[in-house]
Parts: sequence; C-alpha cells; structure tokens
Amino acid sequence: MTKAMDPRWHDTPWQQALSQSSPAIARLLERTLEGAELGFDEGLALANVESTDLLALVKVADELRRRTVGDCLTYVVNRNLNFTNVCFVGCGFCGFSRGPKAKDAYFHSTETLLGKARDAVALGATELCIQGGLPRDLKGAYYADLLRELHGALPELHLHAYSPMEISYGVEKTGLSLPEHLASLKAAGLGSIPGTAAEILDDAVRGELSPNKLTVTRWIEVIRAAHQAGIPSTSTMMYGHTETRAHWVRHMLLLRDIQKDTGGFTEFVPLGFIHSETRLFQKGGARAGASFAEDLIVHALARLLLNNHIPNLQVSWVKLGFEGALACLEAGANDFSGTLMEESISKAAGADYGESVLPGELRAMIRSIGRVPAERYTTYEIRRRFDTPDADERLPVERMPATTARTPVALGY
Ligand code: SF4
Repeated sequence: MTKAMDPRWHDTPWQQALSQSSPAIARLLERTLEGAELGFDEGLALANVESTDLLALVKVADELRRRTVGDCLTYVVNRNLNFTNVCFVGCGFCGFSRGPKAKDAYFHSTETLLGKARDAVALGATELCIQGGLPRDLKGAYYADLLRELHGALPELHLHAYSPMEISYGVEKTGLSLPEHLASLKAAGLGSIPGTAAEILDDAVRGELSPNKLTVTRWIEVIRAAHQAGIPSTSTMMYGHTETRAHWVRHMLLLRDIQKDTGGFTEFVPLGFIHSETRLFQKGGARAGASFAEDLIVHALARLLLNNHIPNLQVSWVKLGFEGALACLEAGANDFSGTLMEESISKAAGADYGESVLPGELRAMIRSIGRVPAERYTTYEIRRRFDTPDADERLPVERMPATTARTPVALGY
C-alpha cells in the first residue's frame, strides 16, 4: 500500500485542524504548543486518535517542529557497513542474520571494509554506520581493531558504530568492564553509537521478539555509560509487531527520562517493523507491520513527547518508503536520515524501497514539501545549507508512485 499524505492535508492550517478536533484532544495539543510536558495518560490519549483528531495531531506536531527546529530539513551523507551477517542471537524479527555455515553467510575482510569506506569518502560521505551480527567465535578485540584501522586510514570519517547489543557482547568477549570497553572503542576512533537493539523497551515484549537479546536494564546501562563517556547515541523504537500503543508511550517517556539525565541522544528514530521475510511474522507471532495511520501517530507523538529534550526526529526511508517518509516529515519529523549507499538489514527483512539514495534526490524530495535541505554531520551540526536548487536535484521518480496512485488511508474522511 502506498503511504502518502492525503493532498487535502497539505492545505489545512494547524489552527483549523485544531478547531475541528474533539475538546479533550484539542486541549492536550494546545498545552504542548504552550511547552507543557505530557505524561503517560495524556500520551496514551494522543496515541489513540482517529479521524479529525489524527489530522489535528499531525498538524500540531508539524507546527511544533517548525517552532522548535525551523524549516531546515537535514540529511547526512553516510554509508552503512555491515561487516558480518553471522549471528547466534536469533531475533524473530530479523531477516538479516545467518548461521555460520549458511551459503550466503559472510564476514568481510578489513581490506574489503576499508575499500568500501574509501568509496564512501570519494562520494562525499562524512559518516560510516557500522553494525553486524554476533558470531560466536568473534574475538573481543575485533570491535576496537576495526575502528582503529578505519580511523587510521580515514580520520575525517565519523564512526557511528555498534549497537548496545554489540557493545555488551564486546564486554563479554574482552573481559573488560563496560566503561573500559567503551573507553577502548573511543580511543580507537568511535564517534557515536546507534541506539538500536531497543526494539520496545519492555522485557515482556522483548521476550516475544528476541528472548536472547539484552534486557531493558542492560540496554539502559550501556546507553547511560556511553553518554557518560562522552559518546552520544541515537535512540530508536521498533513498532508495528506485537506491541500496544501504551508501549510506544512508555518507551518514549523512558527515553525522555534518560535524556534529562545525560543529554546524550542526538535524535529519535521510529523504525517500522518490516515483516515479510521474518520468522516472527511467518509463524504468526506478529502483525504485518504498522498501518500508515500508526506511522503518522508514532512520529507526531514523538514530536509532542520528546520535543523539549530530543528535538531531532528522524524518518527511516528504508522502512517507510519515500512517500511515507515525506508524510512523516510533515507530521513532526525534521531529518531524512542518510544516503546509506548499501542498506542490507531492512532489505533482508523484506523492505523494497532500495538500498541507497543520492543526496540530490533527498534535496529534491525535501524541496517538494516546501522545506530547505541541509546536509548535516552525525551530531547535527550543519555542513551545508542549500537555499536554492542545484543541478544534482531530481526526484527519484522511478521509485515513487505517481501522485494519482496516492492512497489517503485511515484518515476517516
Ligand atoms: S537483530 Fe541483530 S542480534 Fe538479532 S539476530 Fe539480527 S543481527 Fe543478530
């Protein structure tokens, strides 16, 4: 199904949408515009909106985004490096991992990874995003050694590497304490870590999705230790599987509490569950990903609940598709993620939105919704703002459905 904003939404001012919403929802939305911090019950009420209340939620989230971070819409030129797909953890939602003897199992050599990193630099990348599976026989020193090689060869690249699950595995494999392991990674060139492996920060849900994954307590421990060591991280949430809307709200409020203490999250990234090639879905253990309405609600709700503490809200175009990503960028989000150049994790789970996007394509899409594109660094400093269109800008039309095919789903009209 195409995920696209109903064209009528573009033309509805937020004040009009607010005036058409139910009194209780309108009051909550007005309070967020006044800067109030909403709690669980209020967040849950907003997570369950429909119809005109959904329109008001989206429009107010977009207005709050405009007031907080303006009309500049950022992206990063980066490359994904997945050094191995061998993993013993067995998460039910993962279509990427393989056993060590699988025909398509791989473990790239450091030379190969260096070659991919050099290619990325030649294409203008400022960031490498490095993650992999967890092979049983991995040497603990591997994590720091790889960073040292990459950082030594290409010191200009920001190394955004290793999920809390991988950090925790590194602790186990090296025998170092968590702060010692993080210090050794930082000394080797680590710039920041992806706040992935969060899924839903609820141990019961995690038990259904991936019983061998690190616990909520351990995820928080790793993230707090990283922030304390001066290593920022992203924050994420995977939705659209077995969780309820109450889980979304608790998850976001937990991240907000951590951020109040550490200030170490650079952004929040909602990640829709890609279901088709996963064991979890094939065995009937999860629903088939989020609806378009849920995508909009999650992004808008994140803007309202996190705005004062985590102002950067990123869309994942590999999960949402370009049309869905643009819709969420008009529902409170302000960052388009990155060029990726080689995306394999979502693709392996059944995503069909491509493995890379050109910076000029991102800029053209950003301009198509009336915003100003800007390339950023990993930590959100602006590298270059593009106030006027340039020759490289073109819409990735072959990968976007025709406007006439847009499906205004779940809006209650
Ligand atoms: S999500 Fe990560 S830890 Fe889980 S099976 Fe896949 S590669 Fe392994």
